[in-house]
Amino acid sequence: MKIFSDERLINLGIISGTVSRESGNMREKENVINFFKTLNIPQEKILGLKQVHGDKIISLLTPQDLADYKAQEVHEADGWLLGLNNCGVMILTADCVPLYLWDSKGKFVSLCHCGWRGVAAGLPKKAAKLLLQHAGQDAELCAYIGPHINACCFEVQKDVADKFAPSSVIKRNGKLFVDLTADIMRQLKECGLKIENTKNPCSCECTCCNKETFFSYRRDHTKDVQMSFVYKL
Ligand SMILES: [Zn+2]
Repeated sequence: MKIFSDERLINLGIISGTVSRESGNMREKENVINFFKTLNIPQEKILGLKQVHGDKIISLLTPQDLADYKAQEVHEADGWLLGLNNCGVMILTADCVPLYLWDSKGKFVSLCHCGWRGVAAGLPKKAAKLLLQHAGQDAELCAYIGPHINACCFEVQKDVADKFAPSSVIKRNGKLFVDLTADIMRQLKECGLKIENTKNPCSCECTCCNKETFFSYRRDHTKDVQMSFVYKL
């Protein structure tokens, strides 16, 4: 079992990561339960949402927020802001970006499902602003951009490319590729993120290139997904 994560988070009491395909398709509840069993995290403490490729973020900052969440059956959103302890959240991705944001003191942590639609809609920037709003404007923003489809494989048509800043689009052999990492970095820098507070994916973490390690919708056209989670101790 391999978990891609940022070691800085564990030092802040936040268990987190993106789980490789070895642990199975995480649309299957049984696989999710089995995974959290291995970490000794009670699975009922991990909350889920219905991803809709939008920019809505669910905030869980007070016991009342948690009660409100539990009172609803369906939660359509693509991001989380977590400030509660003994609580965790998850998202599912196949090629989309699992984006982890937190303040350097670890009081708040955000986890977002950023597909190209979410990135183009400004979800990374929105999540960073929301986090800083609660952590305080002088808080230090930190980011980990988890495994996703990299610019090597993310070929798009012109209509999609046009939704991105020119600096996030690569032209190669007459084809267009979107660099989601570059666009997320562009948005987060506008929110004050420093390079030294950022962990970017390496080339071995392209979900489409690495069949052994990751599910990829672009490559396989299946509904299999990996899971990303954060759990605040
Ligand atoms: Zn690739």
